[in-house]
Amino acid sequence: MAFKVPRGTQDILPDQTPKWQKVESILRDLSRVYRYKEIRTPIFEQTELFQRGVGDTTDIVQKEMYTFDDRGGRSLTLRPEGTASAVRSYVEHKMFGYPDQPVKLSYIGPMFRYERQQAGRYRQFVQYGVEAIGSADPAIDAEVIALAMDIYQTVGLKDLKLVINSLGDKETRDAHRTALINHFEPSINEFCSDCQNRLEKNPLRILDCKKDHEHPLMKSAPALTDYLTESSAQYFDQVKKYLDVLGIQYEVDPNLVRGLDYYNHTAFEIMSTSQGFGAITTLCGGGRYNGLVEGIGGPDVPGIGFAMSIERLLLALEAEGVELEVEDRLDIYVVAMGDEAKLKSAELISSFRTKGIAADMDYIDRKMKAQMKSADRLGAKFVIVIGDSELEESAVNVKEMESGNQEKVPFHNLVNYILDHK
Ligand code: ATP
Ligand code: MG
Repeated sequence: MAFKVPRGTQDILPDQTPKWQKVESILRDLSRVYRYKEIRTPIFEQTELFQRGVGDTTDIVQKEMYTFDDRGGRSLTLRPEGTASAVRSYVEHKMFGYPDQPVKLSYIGPMFRYERQQAGRYRQFVQYGVEAIGSADPAIDAEVIALAMDIYQTVGLKDLKLVINSLGDKETRDAHRTALINHFEPSINEFCSDCQNRLEKNPLRILDCKKDHEHPLMKSAPALTDYLTESSAQYFDQVKKYLDVLGIQYEVDPNLVRGLDYYNHTAFEIMSTSQGFGAITTLCGGGRYNGLVEGIGGPDVPGIGFAMSIERLLLALEAEGVELEVEDRLDIYVVAMGDEAKLKSAELISSFRTKGIAADMDYIDRKMKAQMKSADRLGAKFVIVIGDSELEESAVNVKEMESGNQEKVPFHNLVNYILDHK
């Protein structure tokens, strides 16, 4: 029997990991610069956390969760997203009491959703996200958006579009909800069964439906923006002002609604506009969730965040033909001829590595020619060949592969020589 990775998952092979590591290091770096400290939470949580935190009416909770009973009969779920866990931890550890507010968190790790596999959609994928909890200042909405944009620009993407919208406050949502029900109810039979369920539970989510998005009633649906209360409209204006000050371009899309139930005020998505990108163009989604902390059992504290997957970021890089500069250097390869020489090689390699010099040698008894080829293929900057005469002289020719230049260096000087020249 031949085993394969489970559907919707992938192995990231050694020739791909340097790209991932590079992206991860950019994410770590920008998290530090923007001061979003990393939080690490378990991969699984009580199922109820996601039912409440993500929302019972969402696709995630209704169709996409990996839920199982453990041996003690508790219902657990592999996390489908990061916000619920971060907020659970925020409440559990009473971070609202921290002297420095808002609390700014970031996370990175695998998420699990039972989805139909297609390009850019996996069942296990890695999300990076941030949450700023404890501030209802439009300036922080702009900061969160700026961080997301900064990430994509730093990795080298150019074909980007930022779309923003305001979902307003509770009063806005209630008025809009009534208008939506009036709009869709007479023809709800023409919509999918999901939408029929959404009509009473959360009609806003009809606008987010992937099956019915071509239905004519979608285009003519009452727009949230027309129902914004004065304070919501003002809040949105402030967010836009801050984005302007930061030099961040955006489009306002009144139809942008995010899938999660707790969103209010600012909602945003960043898309790739690259020709080469497939059907799914959203790279990042985020927004404000002022009711979530309370919904998970904490105090009434506002929050905002976003999440992006590394998989889609890498797809966008590919679509734009951007190559990440990755580090995979081999400073020196040691070719050994004979048993004595091999012992010496092992000793030298160890002394190189102690000083942070990347060094390698042959471990499968190849002939000298094959070892040289290997050094070449691995892109070694220097090569030394140790045989009987080198052992006798306690010195070796150090060859710089690119120039072909050679210099004789005594063994006891090798480490310093490579440190000086690498
Ligand atoms: P979509 O509309 O594409 O299904 P979503 O609304 O489910 O997205 P979120 O839950 O907001 O997405 O997740 C934020 C980001 O995580 C997305 O913008 C995308 O970059 C990424 N993402 C979501 N689902 C997947 C997946 N199955 N595979 C890879 N990346 C994903
Ligand atoms: Mg989805």
